[in-house]
Amino acid sequence: MAVVDAAPEVQATFTVENPATGETIANVPNLDAGGLRDMVERARAAQPAWEALGFEGRAKVMYEMRRWAVENRDRIAQTISEENGKPPDEAILTEVFYVCDSLGFWAKKAPKYLGDERIRTHSPLLLGKKVITRYRPYGVVGVIGPWNYPLTNNFGDAIPALVAGNSVILKPSSVTPLTSMLMAEGFRAAGGPEDVFQIATGTGGTGAELVKLADMIMFTGSTEVGKKILAQAAERITPVSLELGGKDPMIVLRDADVERAANTAVQWAMSNSGQICISVERVYVEEPVYDEFVSKVVDKVSALRQGVPAAPGAVDVGAMTFPSQLDVVERHVKDAVDKGAKVLTGGKRGDGPGLFYEPTVLVDVDHSMACMTEETFGPTLPIMKVRDEEEAIRLANDSPYGLDSSVFTRDVDKGERVARRIEAGATCVNDALTNYLAQEAPFAGAKESGMGARHGAPGIRKYCRTQTILVTRFAASKEPTMFPYTAGKAKMLGKAMELMFGRKGRKKNGG
Ligand code: NAD
Repeated sequence: MAVVDAAPEVQATFTVENPATGETIANVPNLDAGGLRDMVERARAAQPAWEALGFEGRAKVMYEMRRWAVENRDRIAQTISEENGKPPDEAILTEVFYVCDSLGFWAKKAPKYLGDERIRTHSPLLLGKKVITRYRPYGVVGVIGPWNYPLTNNFGDAIPALVAGNSVILKPSSVTPLTSMLMAEGFRAAGGPEDVFQIATGTGGTGAELVKLADMIMFTGSTEVGKKILAQAAERITPVSLELGGKDPMIVLRDADVERAANTAVQWAMSNSGQICISVERVYVEEPVYDEFVSKVVDKVSALRQGVPAAPGAVDVGAMTFPSQLDVVERHVKDAVDKGAKVLTGGKRGDGPGLFYEPTVLVDVDHSMACMTEETFGPTLPIMKVRDEEEAIRLANDSPYGLDSSVFTRDVDKGERVARRIEAGATCVNDALTNYLAQEAPFAGAKESGMGARHGAPGIRKYCRTQTILVTRFAASKEPTMFPYTAGKAKMLGKAMELMFGRKGRKKNGG
């Protein structure tokens, strides 16, 4: 059995298992505090030369690494599949493709997002002065990742940090460290300098040590651990960016393309065995199309092929990744059934040694049930009938989470109106979660789903501190605002304030 992240005792190594077969596939070091300190020191020593390479020098390594990743795509997909349980073709689609795209995206966009900004200041007191804001890498960034996307949500977050000029220490989940280790090999093969990108394999304790040592922390994982990290980071005022849990709602309105809505719901509730932070976790369907939607979803879910991932095309749904996650799914389904829900297909563990839970559809559900209010993170799709759009919006917003969401309607204006009322970091109209591929657009969880953003300008600026430089080129030796204070100067300032701010209404240029 793999070591659980919260294991109290520090062991020298831990085992990694294939969740689809139960076989042990590797033994990996569990880095202790001393080992991690050495790693951080080496990263700190290597960072200035990496920063000095400039955008172009770092981009070269990223493009080279993209070429390496394309050449090695089957090996990467196989590694992901073996430690995570998803089919290798799904690993290519949702992880390898994303990371290849991301390597080029950040390499190309970094000079625009992180270039010096010349500021035109509005203040009359600064007339003639030059003001520039620049972005400087923090130094050593700690990226702490989850097990559900061993590549996308681990190395994927290291890319913009590296491109910005930081050294990165990546602490993958102890359940799925092998993909990150493989990416360190890729970084070296692409000509990445020694110690600029290192992997700290270990359990939750190793992650907690990293929070004590790094200059900035990018964390993806559960809301529970995210809160602990935020509290710990407060001790050194370490900046953190948190990508946390979700309970994403889908709303299907009476005028929706029901076939498309059903296909989308099944795809993004069952992909990766439902272990996606932005999976479709609950559906609200307006009464007139409820029966049609449920019947289509049940047909499609029943037709899914589940099993040990093998060659591309062999199965649709693989194994779940983490034993205790399977327990959560089982608990949510039992809780729902105990409170009156019906299972229309699935509803139990699979046979054999692997971690399988049958793709499951639940109806007659409501918000007294955990499956509608807590993150399930499994292959379940609870569907609730609603009277109208208003009820759907109210229920969609009735959650401590606010990650992604979706609305289905043929009236796209109405879809956009409804989208604007959903309390979430993103909402798709007639689609689900594909906003994640728009790397230009910030992806940022609302409420307890996180703080800070992935993607877009904020997705790389978060790895930098800002420095504003003000340059006074031509000026008198003494400015009128300098000492001594006199009654005459005070009177002049009062007059100036009356002129500038004392009139009714706002000045056109915001004064
Ligand atoms: P987790 O919070 O249990 O673990 C995440 C990482 O944190 C692991 O590497 C773990 O070793 C480490 N860790 C554990 N305790 C720690 C501590 N005290 N200090 C520092 N690090 C510590 O999450 P998980 O079970 O691996 O992943 C599933 C969760 O991740 C789900 O809630 C899912 O929604 C969320 N997730 C969110 C996003 C997003 O983008 N918002 C993406 C993927 C997953």
